[in-house]
Amino acid sequence: MGPLNKLQKMDKDAMKAYNTRLILSHIIRAQSISKGELARLTDLSVVSVSRITDEFIQRNLIQLVDSESQGSLGRPSKDLRLNERVLRALVIHIEREETSFGIVDSSGAILDYQELKIRASDIGVDDFLTFICGEIRRYLTSRPEIEIIPIVSIIVPGIVDDLGGTVRFSSVLRWQNIDLAAKMAKLMPGYRFLVENDIKAVAVAEMYFGLSRDCTDSVVLNVGDGVGAAVIIDNEIYRGQNNTVGEIGHIVTNQAGRLCECGQFGCLQTDIAEWAILQEAAGIHPDITIEAVFGAYQAKEPWAVKLINRVVAGISLAINLVVMAYSPQVVILYGSLIYKFAILRRLIQERYPLYVNEYAKNDFELKFSGYDRLGHLVGGAIRAIIENF
Ligand SMILES: [Zn+2]
Repeated sequence: MGPLNKLQKMDKDAMKAYNTRLILSHIIRAQSISKGELARLTDLSVVSVSRITDEFIQRNLIQLVDSESQGSLGRPSKDLRLNERVLRALVIHIEREETSFGIVDSSGAILDYQELKIRASDIGVDDFLTFICGEIRRYLTSRPEIEIIPIVSIIVPGIVDDLGGTVRFSSVLRWQNIDLAAKMAKLMPGYRFLVENDIKAVAVAEMYFGLSRDCTDSVVLNVGDGVGAAVIIDNEIYRGQNNTVGEIGHIVTNQAGRLCECGQFGCLQTDIAEWAILQEAAGIHPDITIEAVFGAYQAKEPWAVKLINRVVAGISLAINLVVMAYSPQVVILYGSLIYKFAILRRLIQERYPLYVNEYAKNDFELKFSGYDRLGHLVGGAIRAIIENF
């Protein structure tokens, strides 16, 4: 076979893999969908769609269910539905204070979830990974009835190289250039590991099951332990050449501002991240908790009113920033500060229009994520399930 034929074959295989994942992603997003509708959404012929979905059916990955809409000739038509009992993924989420893992199925349901109290930054990377892999292997051995796909997602805060499986920089974990996927594969043979940024994982969860399910362009803005955004353009995560798109928490907005954990002065997150709020409040009340800061705001203590007003302004400026940079249909606010404090959601809802450019104000919708911190697991699982095909 000549080189040209080899090339043609590769292209054909790559095309088939692409179409397979495209169809799969539409089935997951719809949960239940007809072949005709799939053909319309993907611009493929019904014959091409059938060729791919018939293979799924043979492998018991999808099943045919009666459609709610009536088919021609009065017979009920059939819809395709994923067999979520076969498509279950293990997802690991590493945070500043703890690491968790869970089993999530293709409908986005979290079937089980465990937390490990260990700080990644307290011990070396290798010791940390050895510990969590030991715990996960023990868990999997104790639950032999749970079958998982051989691809595992690891979700981390920071900049990752998703193709190379490395963590390039995480100020939260104090990690730099860590070959995370390779290290994990050595500790847990038989599995392949995907590495994804935490906010991008939430954006995937929102796109498949949440608030951006009906749009093509959206931004998830995280306000919590740090500040960051994930951008979806045309139903795909927009990564840029280094996958650093969305690292807006480290845009310097005030050169006279506070020192950030990244080493620069006055990053956007130094006005609105939870640790920055606590640092500021500690000037008045050492050892204050974030709950007590919001309590003081509601009790109208002047320092707390000033502090929270500044936080609301900072978050509103961040909304303006992502709206002007990416022109999304929806901006979804997410993160520990957002889901913990209803008062903060109300203040942002009232005040953000004051900070958004006049001509962009009515072009997008602001929404508050329905996910708490488990949203990361859901998005990570969907990436692994699609990668498995
Ligand atoms: Zn910074």
